[in-house]
Amino acid sequence: MKLLENKTIVVTGGSRGIGKSIVLKLAENGANVIFTYLSSSEKANMVIEEAQKYGVSIEAFKSDASNYEDCQKLIANILSKHVSIDVLVNNAGVTKDNLLLRMSEQDFNSVLSVNMNSVFNMTKAVQKSMLKSRNGCIINLSSVVGLKGNAGQANYAASKSAIIGFSKSVALELGSRNIRCNVIAPGYIETEMTQKLDNKTADLWKQSIPLKRAGVGDDVANLIVFLSSEMASYITGQVISVCGGLST
Ligand code: NAP
Repeated sequence: MKLLENKTIVVTGGSRGIGKSIVLKLAENGANVIFTYLSSSEKANMVIEEAQKYGVSIEAFKSDASNYEDCQKLIANILSKHVSIDVLVNNAGVTKDNLLLRMSEQDFNSVLSVNMNSVFNMTKAVQKSMLKSRNGCIINLSSVVGLKGNAGQANYAASKSAIIGFSKSVALELGSRNIRCNVIAPGYIETEMTQKLDNKTADLWKQSIPLKRAGVGDDVANLIVFLSSEMASYITGQVISVCGGLST
């Protein structure tokens, strides 16, 4: 029997990057996966095709994680077809980097809305069903930047720190109902998000990583598999870095 067989797992932002690796790794380990995306339907279809080789059920929905109503509708739709949602992975995220001097109010608010409000929206939406089944696992994607800040990313760092406070509170509030909530803080992972960095900044990041290389999506996805499984049933309220030692 595969590690995640018979589990239903929802992942936000699964069409590319780390989210894509998460969807494929979960499917490989036997989970039925439902993932969302915002605009890249073609990429989402390619992920579905690739994941289907594992013989599990895979679905994708275009759904804006920063929109409360969208999240409510999405989860209601999923629960009309699946008995329960075992795991929620809040992965969707964006950057709009700038020095504070040049950062607009809109760029501050929109990053907070996609990165942080999405975690609230989705957690609120699955909470009742998880409470009913007295079982649940929520995994939220923060960043090492949420732990230590980063010049030029005040909006992003604020959103990623907020996720940590939110997740620890959820772990405290829902632990007695067997609902776990943990945070993953990736370091520098090669995806479209980090491709936006200029070569000089990327090289500087890599040099400061003790393992002297950037991470890949699977480095994060492997931890998601573990946290989603019964092997992690006594782990909650924790922030685990996947960063090649960068946050040390
Ligand atoms: P990415 O390559 O830019 O992919 C982002 C994913 O999120 C895409 O699937 C995108 O869908 C989806 N998305 C964006 N806005 C959304 C919204 N409002 N509703 C639903 N889906 C939305 O990003 P990534 O590098 O894989 O990052 C994934 C997560 O890890 C993020 O939370 C990020 O902050 C975190 N993280 C990444 C790194 C890194 O080095 N890459 C480091 C630390 C933390 P579309 O394709 O449709 O736009």
